[in-house]
Amino acid sequence: MTNQELADLIFPNITKTVADYEKMYPLRNLKEGAKVTRYAPSPTGFMHIGNFMSVTIDYVLAKNSGGVFYLRNEDTDQAREVEGAVEFIRHILEYYDINPDEYEYRDTKESKGNYGPYIQSERKEIYHTFIKHLIIEGKAYPCFLTQEEMDAAREAQTKDKRRIGIYGKYAKYRYISNEEAAKRIKNGEKYTIRLRSNGNFNHKFKFTDLVNGDMELPENDIDIPIMKSSNQLPTYHFAHLVDDHLMRTTHVVRGQEWMSSIPLHYELFKTFGFKMPKYIHTPLILKKDGDKIRKISKRLDPEARMTYYEEKGYPVYAVIEAVMTIANSNYEVWRENHPDAKFYEFEFSPKKMSSSGALFDLDKLDNISKNYLSRLKAKEVYDLLDKWSKTYDLEFNKLINKYQDYTINVLNIEREQKKPRKDYASLSEVKSQIWYMYDELFKDVTYDFDKRFTSNDIKVVVDEYFNNYYDEADDKDTWFKKMQDLATKLNYCINMKEYKENPDKFKGSIADISNIIRVAITTKNQTPDLYIILKLLGKERILKRINLI
Ligand code: GLU
Repeated sequence: MTNQELADLIFPNITKTVADYEKMYPLRNLKEGAKVTRYAPSPTGFMHIGNFMSVTIDYVLAKNSGGVFYLRNEDTDQAREVEGAVEFIRHILEYYDINPDEYEYRDTKESKGNYGPYIQSERKEIYHTFIKHLIIEGKAYPCFLTQEEMDAAREAQTKDKRRIGIYGKYAKYRYISNEEAAKRIKNGEKYTIRLRSNGNFNHKFKFTDLVNGDMELPENDIDIPIMKSSNQLPTYHFAHLVDDHLMRTTHVVRGQEWMSSIPLHYELFKTFGFKMPKYIHTPLILKKDGDKIRKISKRLDPEARMTYYEEKGYPVYAVIEAVMTIANSNYEVWRENHPDAKFYEFEFSPKKMSSSGALFDLDKLDNISKNYLSRLKAKEVYDLLDKWSKTYDLEFNKLINKYQDYTINVLNIEREQKKPRKDYASLSEVKSQIWYMYDELFKDVTYDFDKRFTSNDIKVVVDEYFNNYYDEADDKDTWFKKMQDLATKLNYCINMKEYKENPDKFKGSIADISNIIRVAITTKNQTPDLYIILKLLGKERILKRINLI
Protein backbone atom coordinates (compact mmCIF):
# COMPACT_ATOMS: atom_id res chain seq x y z
CA MET A 1 0.00 0.00 0.00
CA THR A 2 1.42 3.39 -0.93
CA ASN A 3 1.67 6.40 1.33
CA GLN A 4 -0.78 8.16 -0.96
CA GLU A 5 -3.34 5.39 -0.44
CA LEU A 6 -2.93 5.56 3.32
CA ALA A 7 -3.23 9.35 3.24
CA ASP A 8 -6.40 9.10 1.12
CA LEU A 9 -7.84 6.60 3.57
CA ILE A 10 -7.28 9.02 6.44
CA PHE A 11 -8.29 12.19 4.61
CA PRO A 12 -10.63 11.10 1.80
CA ASN A 13 -12.09 14.58 1.38
CA ILE A 14 -8.89 16.53 1.21
CA THR A 15 -8.28 17.35 -2.42
CA LYS A 16 -6.28 20.55 -2.17
CA THR A 17 -2.51 20.50 -1.86
CA VAL A 18 0.04 22.51 0.06
CA ALA A 19 0.89 24.22 -3.22
CA ASP A 20 -2.73 25.33 -3.59
CA TYR A 21 -2.56 27.07 -0.25
CA GLU A 22 0.77 28.65 -1.10
CA LYS A 23 -1.02 30.26 -4.02
CA MET A 24 -4.05 31.28 -1.98
CA TYR A 25 -1.87 33.01 0.60
CA PRO A 26 0.92 34.56 -1.43
CA LEU A 27 3.79 36.50 0.06
CA ARG A 28 2.50 39.78 1.36
CA ASN A 29 3.00 42.78 -0.77
CA LEU A 30 4.68 45.01 1.76
CA LYS A 31 7.55 47.39 1.54
CA GLU A 32 11.06 46.17 2.24
CA GLY A 33 11.67 45.63 5.94
CA ALA A 34 7.99 45.62 6.89
CA LYS A 35 7.35 43.21 9.72
CA VAL A 36 4.40 40.89 10.08
CA THR A 37 3.71 40.04 13.70
CA ARG A 38 0.94 38.25 15.47
CA TYR A 39 -0.60 37.82 18.84
CA ALA A 40 -1.65 34.21 19.03
CA PRO A 41 -3.19 33.54 22.42
CA SER A 42 -4.82 30.32 23.45
CA PRO A 43 -8.05 31.28 25.18
CA THR A 44 -7.15 29.23 28.21
CA GLY A 45 -6.71 31.93 30.80
CA PHE A 46 -6.50 35.61 31.44
CA MET A 47 -3.90 37.94 30.07
CA HIS A 48 -0.68 38.23 32.02
CA ILE A 49 1.52 41.32 32.05
CA GLY A 50 4.15 39.25 30.20
CA ASN A 51 1.71 38.53 27.38
CA PHE A 52 0.88 42.19 27.27
CA MET A 53 4.52 43.10 26.89
CA SER A 54 4.80 40.70 23.94
CA VAL A 55 1.68 42.17 22.31
CA THR A 56 3.01 45.68 22.75
CA ILE A 57 6.26 44.69 21.08
CA ASP A 58 4.36 42.97 18.26
CA TYR A 59 2.42 46.14 17.71
CA VAL A 60 5.45 48.42 17.79
CA LEU A 61 7.38 46.22 15.36
CA ALA A 62 4.54 46.13 12.85
CA LYS A 63 3.50 49.77 13.13
CA ASN A 64 7.00 51.09 13.08
CA SER A 65 7.91 49.23 9.94
CA GLY A 66 4.70 49.72 7.96
CA GLY A 67 3.88 46.06 8.45
CA VAL A 68 0.93 44.07 9.73
CA PHE A 69 -0.07 43.04 13.23
CA TYR A 70 -2.71 40.33 13.31
CA LEU A 71 -4.61 38.46 15.98
CA ARG A 72 -4.94 34.70 15.80
CA ASN A 73 -7.13 32.70 18.10
CA GLU A 74 -5.30 29.45 18.92
CA ASP A 75 -8.28 27.50 20.15
CA THR A 76 -7.31 23.95 19.27
CA ASP A 77 -7.09 22.89 22.90
CA GLN A 78 -10.83 23.12 23.35
CA ALA A 79 -10.94 21.19 26.60
CA ARG A 80 -8.88 23.92 28.27
CA GLU A 81 -10.80 26.86 26.86
CA VAL A 82 -11.91 29.32 29.55
CA GLU A 83 -15.20 31.06 29.06
CA GLY A 84 -14.86 34.74 28.35
CA ALA A 85 -11.13 34.54 27.57
CA VAL A 86 -11.53 35.45 23.89
CA GLU A 87 -13.73 38.41 24.74
CA PHE A 88 -11.28 39.52 27.39
CA ILE A 89 -8.37 39.47 24.95
CA ARG A 90 -10.37 41.56 22.55
CA HIS A 91 -11.35 43.93 25.31
CA ILE A 92 -7.75 44.45 26.42
CA LEU A 93 -6.57 45.18 22.89
CA GLU A 94 -9.37 47.69 22.41
CA TYR A 95 -8.87 49.23 25.82
CA TYR A 96 -5.19 49.86 25.11
CA ASP A 97 -5.89 50.84 21.53
CA ILE A 98 -3.60 48.14 20.23
CA ASN A 99 -5.83 47.26 17.37
CA PRO A 100 -4.87 44.38 15.09
CA ASP A 101 -4.90 45.01 11.36
CA GLU A 102 -6.30 41.53 10.78
CA TYR A 103 -8.54 39.51 13.07
CA GLU A 104 -11.69 37.52 13.35
CA TYR A 105 -14.19 37.48 16.18
CA ARG A 106 -16.31 34.40 16.58
CA ASP A 107 -19.12 36.00 18.57
CA THR A 108 -19.78 39.01 16.36
CA LYS A 109 -18.51 37.42 13.15
CA GLU A 110 -16.47 40.54 12.45
CA SER A 111 -13.30 39.93 10.52
CA LYS A 112 -10.68 41.69 8.49
CA GLY A 113 -7.72 40.48 6.45
CA ASN A 114 -6.97 38.22 3.50
CA TYR A 115 -4.95 35.63 5.35
CA GLY A 116 -7.71 34.09 7.46
CA PRO A 117 -9.55 32.38 8.90
CA TYR A 118 -7.82 33.70 12.01
CA ILE A 119 -9.45 31.19 14.32
CA GLN A 120 -7.63 27.87 14.32
CA SER A 121 -10.69 25.70 14.79
CA GLU A 122 -11.93 27.08 11.46
CA ARG A 123 -8.78 26.01 9.65
CA LYS A 124 -9.16 22.26 9.94
CA GLU A 125 -9.15 21.66 6.20
CA ILE A 126 -5.92 23.58 5.81
CA TYR A 127 -4.19 21.62 8.57
CA HIS A 128 -5.46 18.34 7.18
CA THR A 129 -4.01 19.23 3.80
CA PHE A 130 -0.63 19.81 5.37
CA ILE A 131 -0.82 16.64 7.44
CA LYS A 132 -1.87 14.66 4.40
CA HIS A 133 1.13 16.03 2.57
CA LEU A 134 3.43 14.73 5.32
CA ILE A 135 1.83 11.28 5.26
CA ILE A 136 2.29 11.10 1.50
CA GLU A 137 5.91 12.01 1.97
CA GLY A 138 6.34 9.43 4.73
CA LYS A 139 7.03 12.17 7.28
CA ALA A 140 4.00 11.50 9.46
CA TYR A 141 2.15 8.36 10.45
CA PRO A 142 -0.88 7.19 12.36
CA CYS A 143 -0.06 6.06 15.88
CA PHE A 144 -2.26 3.70 17.84
CA LEU A 145 -0.64 3.96 21.25
CA THR A 146 -3.21 3.89 23.99
CA GLN A 147 -3.13 6.19 26.98
CA GLU A 148 -2.05 3.24 29.15
CA GLU A 149 0.86 2.45 26.83
CA MET A 150 1.99 6.05 26.87
CA ASP A 151 1.74 6.21 30.65
CA ALA A 152 3.79 3.01 30.89
CA ALA A 153 6.44 4.48 28.57
CA ARG A 154 6.62 7.62 30.67
CA GLU A 155 6.95 5.61 33.85
CA ALA A 156 9.74 3.49 32.43
CA GLN A 157 11.55 6.57 31.11
CA THR A 158 11.29 8.31 34.45
CA LYS A 159 12.58 5.23 36.22
CA ASP A 160 15.51 4.80 33.83
CA LYS A 161 16.22 8.55 33.86
CA ARG A 162 15.67 8.75 30.12
CA ARG A 163 14.14 11.59 28.19
CA ILE A 164 10.36 11.58 28.25
CA GLY A 165 8.47 11.20 24.98
CA ILE A 166 7.63 8.99 22.07
CA TYR A 167 10.89 8.47 20.19
CA GLY A 168 13.15 5.59 19.18
CA LYS A 169 11.83 2.29 20.41
CA TYR A 170 8.91 3.95 22.19
CA ALA A 171 7.57 5.14 18.85
CA LYS A 172 6.55 1.67 17.92
CA TYR A 173 3.96 2.55 15.27
CA ARG A 174 6.41 4.41 13.13
CA TYR A 175 7.74 1.00 12.09
CA ILE A 176 4.49 -0.74 11.09
CA SER A 177 3.48 -1.16 7.46
CA ASN A 178 0.88 0.99 5.74
CA GLU A 179 -1.23 -2.16 5.36
CA GLU A 180 -1.29 -2.72 9.09
CA ALA A 181 -2.05 0.94 9.79
CA ALA A 182 -4.89 0.85 7.26
CA LYS A 183 -6.29 -2.33 8.77
CA ARG A 184 -6.35 -0.79 12.25
CA ILE A 185 -8.00 2.37 10.98
CA LYS A 186 -10.65 0.36 9.16
CA ASN A 187 -11.23 -1.57 12.38
CA GLY A 188 -12.11 1.71 14.04
CA GLU A 189 -9.05 1.89 16.31
CA LYS A 190 -8.32 5.32 17.73
CA TYR A 191 -5.20 7.01 16.44
CA THR A 192 -3.29 10.23 16.48
CA ILE A 193 -1.03 11.39 13.68
CA ARG A 194 2.58 11.79 14.70
CA LEU A 195 5.49 13.47 13.06
CA ARG A 196 8.09 10.93 11.92
CA SER A 197 10.99 12.82 13.36
CA ASN A 198 14.16 12.87 11.37
CA GLY A 199 16.26 14.40 14.10
CA ASN A 200 19.10 13.05 16.18
CA PHE A 201 19.25 14.23 19.76
CA ASN A 202 23.04 14.01 19.71
CA HIS A 203 23.30 16.46 16.83
CA LYS A 204 23.15 20.15 17.32
CA PHE A 205 21.75 22.86 15.08
CA LYS A 206 22.41 26.56 15.10
CA PHE A 207 19.64 28.89 16.08
CA THR A 208 19.48 32.64 16.62
CA ASP A 209 16.98 34.27 18.88
CA LEU A 210 16.95 38.04 18.50
CA VAL A 211 17.00 38.55 22.26
CA ASN A 212 19.05 35.61 23.43
CA GLY A 213 21.53 35.60 20.57
CA ASP A 214 23.18 32.67 18.78
CA MET A 215 22.91 29.24 20.28
CA GLU A 216 23.35 25.58 19.53
CA LEU A 217 20.47 23.32 20.43
CA PRO A 218 20.03 19.55 20.22
CA GLU A 219 17.82 18.37 17.39
CA ASN A 220 14.32 17.17 18.16
CA ASP A 221 13.85 13.43 17.84
CA ILE A 222 10.43 13.13 19.40
CA ASP A 223 7.54 11.95 17.26
CA ILE A 224 5.16 14.55 18.59
CA PRO A 225 1.46 14.26 17.88
CA ILE A 226 0.44 16.68 15.17
CA MET A 227 -3.23 15.72 15.05
CA LYS A 228 -5.30 14.63 18.00
CA SER A 229 -7.56 11.60 17.85
CA SER A 230 -10.46 13.16 19.70
CA ASN A 231 -11.51 15.94 17.33
CA GLN A 232 -9.02 15.66 14.49
CA LEU A 233 -7.70 19.11 15.35
CA PRO A 234 -3.98 19.68 15.09
CA THR A 235 -1.85 20.29 18.14
CA TYR A 236 -0.65 23.82 18.85
CA HIS A 237 2.84 23.10 17.53
CA PHE A 238 1.62 21.95 14.16
CA ALA A 239 -1.12 24.54 13.76
CA HIS A 240 1.21 27.40 14.57
CA LEU A 241 3.72 26.23 11.99
CA VAL A 242 1.09 26.15 9.24
CA ASP A 243 -0.37 29.48 10.30
CA ASP A 244 2.84 31.40 10.78
CA HIS A 245 3.90 30.19 7.37
CA LEU A 246 0.67 30.88 5.46
CA MET A 247 -0.02 34.14 7.25
CA ARG A 248 3.49 35.13 6.29
CA THR A 249 4.64 36.02 9.78
CA THR A 250 8.10 37.54 9.82
CA HIS A 251 8.59 37.95 13.60
CA VAL A 252 7.32 35.80 16.41
CA VAL A 253 7.26 37.55 19.78
CA ARG A 254 6.42 35.26 22.66
CA GLY A 255 7.41 34.37 26.20
CA GLN A 256 10.65 32.74 27.20
CA GLU A 257 8.76 29.56 28.10
CA TRP A 258 8.47 28.75 24.39
CA MET A 259 12.23 28.60 23.95
CA SER A 260 12.23 24.89 24.83
CA SER A 261 9.90 24.19 21.88
CA ILE A 262 12.38 25.61 19.38
CA PRO A 263 14.01 22.28 18.45
CA LEU A 264 10.60 20.95 17.56
CA HIS A 265 9.50 24.06 15.72
CA TYR A 266 12.80 24.11 13.87
CA GLU A 267 12.22 20.55 12.71
CA LEU A 268 8.64 21.26 11.64
CA PHE A 269 9.69 24.20 9.47
CA LYS A 270 12.56 22.17 8.05
CA THR A 271 10.31 19.23 7.26
CA PHE A 272 8.24 21.43 4.97
CA GLY A 273 11.21 23.37 3.73
CA PHE A 274 9.65 26.60 5.00
CA LYS A 275 11.65 29.58 6.15
CA MET A 276 11.40 30.13 9.88
CA PRO A 277 10.29 33.55 11.07
CA LYS A 278 12.60 35.48 13.34
CA TYR A 279 12.09 34.94 17.05
CA ILE A 280 11.96 37.32 19.96
CA HIS A 281 11.58 35.31 23.14
CA THR A 282 10.72 37.88 25.77
CA PRO A 283 12.20 37.56 29.26
CA LEU A 284 10.31 36.70 32.39
CA ILE A 285 8.77 39.61 34.23
CA LEU A 286 10.37 40.03 37.63
CA LYS A 287 9.41 42.02 40.68
CA LYS A 288 11.06 43.19 43.85
CA ASP A 289 9.83 41.40 46.93
CA GLY A 290 11.58 42.84 49.97
CA ASP A 291 15.28 42.47 49.20
CA LYS A 292 14.65 39.66 46.76
CA ILE A 293 13.88 39.78 43.09
CA ARG A 294 11.60 37.04 41.89
CA LYS A 295 9.37 36.06 39.01
CA ILE A 296 6.04 37.86 39.05
CA SER A 297 3.31 35.37 39.87
CA LYS A 298 -0.31 35.28 38.77
CA ARG A 299 -1.20 33.64 42.06
CA LEU A 300 0.70 35.95 44.43
CA ASP A 301 0.79 39.28 42.65
CA PRO A 302 -2.40 40.99 41.55
CA GLU A 303 -0.36 43.19 39.20
CA ALA A 304 0.55 40.11 37.16
CA ARG A 305 -2.93 40.16 35.63
CA MET A 306 -3.98 42.79 33.16
CA THR A 307 -7.30 43.22 34.97
CA TYR A 308 -5.41 44.92 37.81
CA TYR A 309 -4.50 48.08 35.92
CA GLU A 310 -8.00 48.65 34.70
CA GLU A 311 -9.56 48.07 38.09
CA LYS A 312 -7.13 50.51 39.69
CA GLY A 313 -7.72 53.01 36.93
CA TYR A 314 -4.18 53.45 35.69
CA PRO A 315 -4.20 55.51 32.51
CA VAL A 316 -3.63 53.49 29.36
CA TYR A 317 -0.71 55.72 28.47
CA ALA A 318 1.09 55.01 31.75
CA VAL A 319 0.73 51.24 31.55
CA ILE A 320 2.11 51.16 28.03
CA GLU A 321 4.95 53.47 28.97
CA ALA A 322 5.86 51.31 31.97
CA VAL A 323 5.85 48.19 29.81
CA MET A 324 7.90 49.79 27.05
CA THR A 325 10.39 50.99 29.64
CA ILE A 326 11.12 47.43 30.70
CA ALA A 327 10.99 46.13 27.14
CA ASN A 328 13.88 48.26 25.94
CA SER A 329 16.61 49.85 28.02
CA ASN A 330 16.78 52.96 25.84
CA TYR A 331 13.05 53.70 25.79
CA GLU A 332 13.12 56.19 28.64
CA VAL A 333 15.82 58.30 27.03
CA TRP A 334 13.94 58.17 23.75
CA ARG A 335 10.78 59.31 25.52
CA GLU A 336 12.61 62.25 27.10
CA ASN A 337 13.68 63.33 23.65
CA HIS A 338 10.30 62.66 22.06
CA PRO A 339 7.74 63.62 24.69
CA ASP A 340 4.83 63.83 22.27
CA ALA A 341 5.58 60.85 20.05
CA LYS A 342 3.37 57.78 19.96
CA PHE A 343 4.97 54.81 21.67
CA TYR A 344 5.03 52.86 18.43
CA GLU A 345 7.21 55.46 16.79
CA PHE A 346 9.96 54.05 18.96
CA GLU A 347 12.28 51.71 17.14
CA PHE A 348 12.28 48.58 19.24
CA SER A 349 15.54 46.70 19.29
CA PRO A 350 15.51 43.12 20.60
CA LYS A 351 19.22 43.47 21.36
CA LYS A 352 18.37 46.09 23.96
CA MET A 353 16.05 43.72 25.74
CA SER A 354 17.39 41.95 28.77
CA SER A 355 17.40 38.19 28.29
CA SER A 356 17.64 37.44 31.99
CA GLY A 357 14.44 39.11 33.12
CA ALA A 358 12.57 42.39 33.00
CA LEU A 359 12.05 44.06 36.33
CA PHE A 360 8.57 45.51 36.54
CA ASP A 361 8.33 48.13 39.22
CA LEU A 362 4.95 49.41 40.39
CA ASP A 363 6.60 52.52 41.88
CA LYS A 364 7.89 53.34 38.44
CA LEU A 365 4.42 52.91 36.99
CA ASP A 366 3.06 55.19 39.71
CA ASN A 367 5.61 57.80 38.82
CA ILE A 368 4.91 57.69 35.12
CA SER A 369 1.23 57.81 35.85
CA LYS A 370 1.44 60.70 38.30
CA ASN A 371 3.42 62.73 35.83
CA TYR A 372 1.01 61.96 33.07
CA LEU A 373 -2.16 62.69 35.04
CA SER A 374 -0.68 65.91 36.41
CA ARG A 375 -0.20 67.22 32.89
CA LEU A 376 -3.81 66.65 31.84
CA LYS A 377 -6.45 69.35 31.94
CA ALA A 378 -8.99 69.10 34.75
CA LYS A 379 -11.74 68.22 32.28
CA GLU A 380 -9.64 65.40 30.87
CA VAL A 381 -9.09 63.97 34.33
CA TYR A 382 -12.80 64.38 34.98
CA ASP A 383 -13.65 62.39 31.86
CA LEU A 384 -11.26 59.59 32.80
CA LEU A 385 -12.62 59.55 36.33
CA ASP A 386 -16.18 59.51 35.06
CA LYS A 387 -15.47 56.55 32.80
CA TRP A 388 -13.57 54.62 35.43
CA SER A 389 -16.00 55.24 38.30
CA LYS A 390 -18.99 54.17 36.18
CA THR A 391 -17.67 50.63 36.48
CA TYR A 392 -15.72 50.69 39.71
CA ASP A 393 -17.38 53.22 42.04
CA LEU A 394 -20.91 54.00 41.02
CA GLU A 395 -21.71 56.01 44.14
CA PHE A 396 -18.82 58.35 43.50
CA ASN A 397 -19.72 58.46 39.83
CA LYS A 398 -23.18 59.75 40.66
CA LEU A 399 -21.69 62.39 42.91
CA ILE A 400 -19.21 63.73 40.39
CA ASN A 401 -21.92 63.83 37.76
CA LYS A 402 -24.28 65.67 40.08
CA TYR A 403 -21.59 68.30 40.68
CA GLN A 404 -19.79 68.15 37.39
CA ASP A 405 -18.49 71.73 37.13
CA TYR A 406 -17.66 71.81 40.80
CA THR A 407 -15.72 68.54 40.47
CA ILE A 408 -13.77 69.87 37.53
CA ASN A 409 -12.87 72.90 39.65
CA VAL A 410 -11.80 70.64 42.48
CA LEU A 411 -9.65 68.61 40.11
CA ASN A 412 -8.22 71.83 38.82
CA ILE A 413 -6.68 72.88 42.13
CA GLU A 414 -2.96 73.39 41.45
CA ARG A 415 -3.35 71.96 37.97
CA GLU A 416 -2.84 73.65 34.60
CA GLN A 417 0.19 75.48 35.91
CA LYS A 418 3.92 75.18 35.39
CA LYS A 419 4.49 72.69 38.17
CA PRO A 420 1.21 70.92 38.66
CA ARG A 421 0.56 68.76 41.71
CA LYS A 422 1.28 65.09 41.21
CA ASP A 423 -1.48 63.72 43.34
CA TYR A 424 -2.80 60.61 41.75
CA ALA A 425 -1.19 57.58 40.20
CA SER A 426 -4.53 56.07 39.35
CA LEU A 427 -8.17 57.05 39.23
CA SER A 428 -8.94 54.85 42.22
CA GLU A 429 -6.83 57.24 44.32
CA VAL A 430 -8.78 60.36 43.46
CA LYS A 431 -11.69 59.87 45.83
CA SER A 432 -9.43 59.28 48.82
CA GLN A 433 -7.88 62.67 48.15
CA ILE A 434 -10.88 64.84 47.38
CA TRP A 435 -13.73 63.20 49.29
CA TYR A 436 -13.90 66.03 51.82
CA MET A 437 -15.00 68.39 49.08
CA TYR A 438 -18.38 66.62 49.03
CA ASP A 439 -20.78 67.09 51.94
CA GLU A 440 -22.33 63.72 51.11
CA LEU A 441 -19.02 62.06 51.99
CA PHE A 442 -18.22 64.33 54.92
CA LYS A 443 -19.81 62.10 57.56
CA ASP A 444 -18.47 60.35 60.66
CA VAL A 445 -15.15 62.04 60.12
CA THR A 446 -12.09 62.00 62.36
CA TYR A 447 -9.94 65.08 62.53
CA ASP A 448 -6.19 65.11 62.32
CA PHE A 449 -5.58 68.05 64.65
CA ASP A 450 -2.17 68.59 66.14
CA LYS A 451 -2.29 67.19 69.67
CA ARG A 452 -0.54 70.28 71.03
CA PHE A 453 -3.80 72.19 70.83
CA THR A 454 -6.79 71.67 73.08
CA SER A 455 -10.29 71.62 71.70
CA ASN A 456 -10.75 75.04 73.18
CA ASP A 457 -7.67 76.38 71.33
CA ILE A 458 -9.15 75.00 68.13
CA LYS A 459 -12.54 76.44 68.78
CA VAL A 460 -11.12 79.87 69.47
CA VAL A 461 -9.11 79.93 66.25
CA VAL A 462 -11.91 78.65 64.06
CA ASP A 463 -14.66 80.80 65.53
CA GLU A 464 -12.58 83.95 65.44
CA TYR A 465 -11.39 83.30 61.96
CA PHE A 466 -14.63 82.52 60.26
CA ASN A 467 -16.77 84.97 62.19
CA ASN A 468 -14.45 87.96 62.20
CA TYR A 469 -11.84 87.60 59.47
CA TYR A 470 -12.74 85.30 56.61
CA ASP A 471 -14.38 86.95 53.62
CA GLU A 472 -15.04 84.94 50.48
CA ALA A 473 -14.39 87.97 48.34
CA ASP A 474 -10.83 88.45 49.54
CA ASP A 475 -8.01 87.93 47.12
CA LYS A 476 -5.20 85.64 48.14
CA ASP A 477 -2.95 88.31 49.59
CA THR A 478 -5.72 89.82 51.70
CA TRP A 479 -6.72 86.33 52.77
CA PHE A 480 -3.24 85.63 53.97
CA LYS A 481 -2.84 89.00 55.62
CA LYS A 482 -5.99 88.38 57.61
CA MET A 483 -4.70 85.07 58.79
CA GLN A 484 -1.60 86.87 60.02
CA ASP A 485 -3.75 89.42 61.82
CA LEU A 486 -5.61 86.65 63.55
CA ALA A 487 -2.35 84.97 64.48
CA THR A 488 -1.01 88.13 66.01
CA LYS A 489 -4.20 88.68 67.96
CA LEU A 490 -4.12 85.16 69.40
CA ASN A 491 -0.35 85.21 70.05
CA TYR A 492 0.64 82.81 67.27
CA CYS A 493 3.97 83.97 65.87
CA ILE A 494 3.86 85.07 62.23
CA ASN A 495 7.58 84.80 61.70
CA MET A 496 8.74 81.22 61.59
CA LYS A 497 12.36 82.05 62.33
CA GLU A 498 11.47 84.03 65.36
CA TYR A 499 9.10 81.31 66.50
CA LYS A 500 11.79 78.65 66.25
CA GLU A 501 14.14 80.71 68.31
CA ASN A 502 11.60 81.36 71.07
CA PRO A 503 8.78 78.87 70.86
CA ASP A 504 7.80 79.31 74.48
CA LYS A 505 6.91 82.92 74.02
CA PHE A 506 4.02 81.97 71.71
CA LYS A 507 1.00 79.75 71.63
CA GLY A 508 2.07 78.51 68.25
CA SER A 509 2.95 79.79 64.80
CA ILE A 510 1.11 81.04 61.74
CA ALA A 511 1.55 77.55 60.29
CA ASP A 512 -0.43 76.20 63.23
CA ILE A 513 -3.21 78.67 62.58
CA SER A 514 -3.60 77.65 58.98
CA ASN A 515 -3.32 74.03 59.90
CA ILE A 516 -6.08 74.26 62.48
CA ILE A 517 -8.30 75.83 59.86
CA ARG A 518 -7.29 73.28 57.28
CA VAL A 519 -8.06 70.33 59.54
CA ALA A 520 -11.29 71.87 60.75
CA ILE A 521 -12.60 72.12 57.21
CA THR A 522 -11.08 69.04 55.57
CA THR A 523 -10.04 66.80 58.53
CA LYS A 524 -6.62 66.47 56.87
CA ASN A 525 -3.43 68.28 57.78
CA GLN A 526 -2.19 68.20 54.23
CA THR A 527 -4.26 69.36 51.30
CA PRO A 528 -3.74 71.35 48.15
CA ASP A 529 -4.16 75.11 48.27
CA LEU A 530 -6.40 75.96 51.26
CA TYR A 531 -7.40 79.34 49.87
CA ILE A 532 -8.99 77.66 46.84
CA ILE A 533 -10.52 74.87 48.86
CA LEU A 534 -12.31 77.41 51.04
CA LYS A 535 -13.44 79.36 48.02
CA LEU A 536 -14.84 76.27 46.33
CA LEU A 537 -16.65 75.12 49.44
CA GLY A 538 -18.18 78.53 50.03
CA LYS A 539 -18.88 80.18 53.36
CA GLU A 540 -22.26 78.62 53.93
CA ARG A 541 -20.93 75.07 53.77
CA ILE A 542 -17.87 76.05 55.78
CA LEU A 543 -19.99 77.35 58.62
CA LYS A 544 -21.96 74.11 58.66
CA ARG A 545 -18.74 72.17 58.90
CA ILE A 546 -17.49 74.24 61.80
CA ASN A 547 -20.54 73.20 63.77
CA LEU A 548 -19.55 69.56 63.32
CA ILE A 549 -16.22 69.83 65.10
N1 GLU B 1 -0.96 29.85 21.65
C1 GLU B 1 0.30 30.02 22.25
C2 GLU B 1 0.11 30.65 23.62
O1 GLU B 1 -0.89 30.46 24.20
C3 GLU B 1 1.15 30.88 21.35
C4 GLU B 1 2.61 30.68 21.45
C5 GLU B 1 3.28 31.39 20.29
O2 GLU B 1 3.18 32.63 20.27
O3 GLU B 1 3.83 30.73 19.42
O4 GLU B 1 0.87 31.33 24.19
